[in-house]
Amino acid sequence: MGKQFEFKMAAYLFASGIEKASLDELRRGIEFFEKYCPLDKVYIEPYRSNVEVSAEKIRAVKALFEEYGIEAAGGITTTIQMQGHEKNSIFDTFCYSEAPCRERLAEIMKRTAALFDEVILDDFYFTACRCEHCIKAKGAKTWADYKLGLMEDVSRTLVKAAREANPKVKLIIKYPNWYESYQETGYNPEKQKDIFDGIYTGTETRNPKYEQQHLQRYLSYSIIRYLENVSPGRNGGGWIDPFGLSDDISGWVEQAEFTLFAKAREMMLFNFFVMIDSGFLPPLTPRLSRLNSIIKKCGNPRGVSLYEPYNADGEDQVVNYLGMTGIPFEPSPDFGQGKMVFLPASAAKDKDVIQKLEDHVRRGNTAVITAGFLKECIDRGIKDMTSVRPTGRIVSGNEYWVEPYGERRLVSSGGEKIMIEALDYKTNASWCEIAMMTGYNSFPLLVHDYYGKGHLYTLNIPNDFGDLYSLPKEVTGLINRVFADTNPFIKSSPRICMFMYDNDVIGIYSQKQYADDVEIFLPEKYSTLRDLETDTEIPLAADSANRKHYGKPVVSYKTARIYLPGGTYRFFKLT
Ligand SMILES: [Zn+2]
Repeated sequence: MGKQFEFKMAAYLFASGIEKASLDELRRGIEFFEKYCPLDKVYIEPYRSNVEVSAEKIRAVKALFEEYGIEAAGGITTTIQMQGHEKNSIFDTFCYSEAPCRERLAEIMKRTAALFDEVILDDFYFTACRCEHCIKAKGAKTWADYKLGLMEDVSRTLVKAAREANPKVKLIIKYPNWYESYQETGYNPEKQKDIFDGIYTGTETRNPKYEQQHLQRYLSYSIIRYLENVSPGRNGGGWIDPFGLSDDISGWVEQAEFTLFAKAREMMLFNFFVMIDSGFLPPLTPRLSRLNSIIKKCGNPRGVSLYEPYNADGEDQVVNYLGMTGIPFEPSPDFGQGKMVFLPASAAKDKDVIQKLEDHVRRGNTAVITAGFLKECIDRGIKDMTSVRPTGRIVSGNEYWVEPYGERRLVSSGGEKIMIEALDYKTNASWCEIAMMTGYNSFPLLVHDYYGKGHLYTLNIPNDFGDLYSLPKEVTGLINRVFADTNPFIKSSPRICMFMYDNDVIGIYSQKQYADDVEIFLPEKYSTLRDLETDTEIPLAADSANRKHYGKPVVSYKTARIYLPGGTYRFFKLT
């Protein structure tokens, strides 16, 4: 709970900014924040790369913030410039295979822990080093295995060093937004969550087209939920920045909104010096005020159980693309306990995953797997649950048929052709529910298998995941319906997200550049839909598609149609 909001507002002060700024300049900065967005907490960084701020200056800066009632913690960015240790490595991260580097970091940690009772490690606490020392120490292991073990060991010694300097110190590890790559650089949440006193989450998104990463805006939501499930109750907050967004301030504010829809406990702005006298803060506060009044009325987030085992990788960002087509996800490092489970290629990392999947479906639950997961597991028992097989042949098209509940309809996207892998399946052993059409053929996007008492769906993801946004709403609407199981869902053109909470609240956020209709489908147990802010009741109609479909249990829906301008959102209470 902060001064102004349900969550705390925080800002990070990096070492070079502190080094350059006078106390008067910092005071003016604090007052700029007070005017637009009062801070509850700051993280003051004595060390980053070649900048090491004196203890005297750090103490003075800490006292200045405390004078304004702002809590002060410390921060370290683990990048190095050591005489004689310049490395052929990305981002000047430390080489942890070399004793002098480890000793240097322990010394920095001791100095920082002596100044603060809480210290956060910025997300450069990884190693991309492949120097002679590292190559020799790695030996026959993979880089991922070597670095996971290395950083577990380094983390234990770092915590020990900090406690020597200050037995009360709480050490927080911030995880970056690139979760599918953690293991390759030594980020090891499976072990580190218990070594450190808390974790923190990078929710920065970037322009996926012009930057190296492929981050979709939904990441700012999904990664908070993933790391909350990694270390329940100990995920300190979400961290945003305005970089790599092609100067899109609105995109930066949306990072904050998605982070907070996921119920982050603190909102960290990186960084203090970039925010001062800039155009960032003025649009932030009014939008956070509105959001704050909404999230007070939201329970705990919930959604389709996405299984993302530790140290896994696969279809990079696919969940965040699917999040942008309207599916609410709850990612977790544990196989889901809910009725609906989603397994992308990364879930194949678990060597027992097919056994878990088989048991889940056979008992009467539903699972959706991607064609990427099917391929990874093709010789691990999945063939017993479906007749779908990858072929390696690539096909393209922009026309589709959907067969929801026994009635086939043709739809055209009217847009660019998409490319998918042709999946083979056996007639009447498996049932294709959505297909892409070509001149004289059709190829599955979604195939349904009946198994035990449950249902297995194979979802074919386009070669370019971004082509999910080219699918017509009749296609994504049916995919959303399958994922929803017995929950509400939306039918809309893609780039409209849905959030869901355990007190029957849903949120709908348009990332589109134009206004569009969204159809909300409510299962029959609900009878009203009210706008959470205005308490206006939205009229409901019976869904014309309520009909029985073979052996699948029937869920009858009522529907509501709303008109949502691009870049806006609405939340609703269902009763
Ligand atoms: Zn090295």
